[in-house]
Amino acid sequence: MSTRQVAYIKEENCIGCAICIDVCPFDAIIGAQNFSHRINFEECPGCKICVNKCPTDCIEIKNINQDKSNLKDKIKYNFKRRELRIANIKKNYLHNIENQLKKII
Ligand code: SF4
Ligand code: SF4
Repeated sequence: MSTRQVAYIKEENCIGCAICIDVCPFDAIIGAQNFSHRINFEECPGCKICVNKCPTDCIEIKNINQDKSNLKDKIKYNFKRRELRIANIKKNYLHNIENQLKKII
């Protein structure tokens, strides 16, 4: 068994802002707005991008004992999932703007 790095959220300090979800390129963070978030270790390759984005500094990097053999396939899958999620967010955003405009115009 080899060791690899993953991100870890100290949930007691998480304010549920969801910034980390938006910046994670691997869609490895689970949570909803205003609720504490968690990292799915299986899908986090430890890129560290989320660490400096957290406003409460509650994300740290730690070592876990895990085989790296399936990691590459998961990362490919997650890029697709992230693209779909962003497309849905954009769609909902545009839909909300359209609804707001209908109320005004
Ligand atoms: S370290 Fe990288 S892959 Fe892991 S949760 Fe943070 S942003 Fe996502
Ligand atoms: S960025 Fe930090 S405070 Fe915000 S949801 Fe993520 S872990 Fe919690």
